[in-house]
Amino acid sequence: MIYIGCHLSVTKGYEAMGKTMSRYGGSTFSWFTRNPRGGKAKAIETDDADSLNEYIDTNKFGPLVAHGSYTMNLCAANPVIRENSMNMFADDMKRMAYFPGNFYNFHPGSHVGQGAEKGIELISDALNEYLTEDMKITVLLETMAGKGSEVGSTFEELKEIIDRVELKDKLGVCFDTCHTWDSGYDIVSDLDGVLSHFDDIIGLDRLKAVHLNDSKNDRGSHKDRHEKIGEGYIGLDAMKRIVTHPVLQDYPFILETPNDEDGYIREIAMIKGFFTN
Ligand code: FE
Ligand code: FE
Ligand code: ZN
Repeated sequence: MIYIGCHLSVTKGYEAMGKTMSRYGGSTFSWFTRNPRGGKAKAIETDDADSLNEYIDTNKFGPLVAHGSYTMNLCAANPVIRENSMNMFADDMKRMAYFPGNFYNFHPGSHVGQGAEKGIELISDALNEYLTEDMKITVLLETMAGKGSEVGSTFEELKEIIDRVELKDKLGVCFDTCHTWDSGYDIVSDLDGVLSHFDDIIGLDRLKAVHLNDSKNDRGSHKDRHEKIGEGYIGLDAMKRIVTHPVLQDYPFILETPNDEDGYIREIAMIKGFFTN
């Protein structure tokens, strides 16, 4: 059995997210460590963070998967944007120190014309600067759709980033189903093949979390437009095979589908139902 949940808003605080997820029927969730459109993040409320830690422990949640800002680009060509992104990442590491044992996922970055090799170099340099031996979280690189100049839409690129990082035991990968599909991996007709390719290139021991999304577009579209589970090109049968795949059990699965509250409650129930029906 997997842990299932969805992306939540942090506006009411940390413990409130735990309670919301229990109401949704889930056992993990994600949230943005800061406003996705950039700007300053609120100071961390440490009492509230402790309350959430206690809550997820008591309620047997799986690991949480915090999400870095979309505006953070560790391989930006513009030095001001890169500097801001480095500061965001450093600050996110400080925030995540309040959530030991959980995950911090982020989009590796967009090389904006500098080329993937340069992007990979800049991303791994940033990671080497801010990952520390004593940190108690795992940082996850998300598999990307390959929209624009995104780095990390192939397993090989993610592997190259990991190879350049010194503290490799602090690194993992978050497998986004919409993104890998949009990038061209055939998780519909050849899920086993894709996972075994992932194992050959990156190693399945690095796979720590899944973003569970259907896609509004066909394989290889590089569009990155998420669809509700079972309503897109990946479809319900493939989703069921992914969720119940033996290699993916015990991991947190996060829905980032276009849903309101009722929609998420329905999807979470449906996914839990895959294990009984
Ligand atoms: Fe993401
Ligand atoms: Fe994602
Ligand atoms: Zn996406």
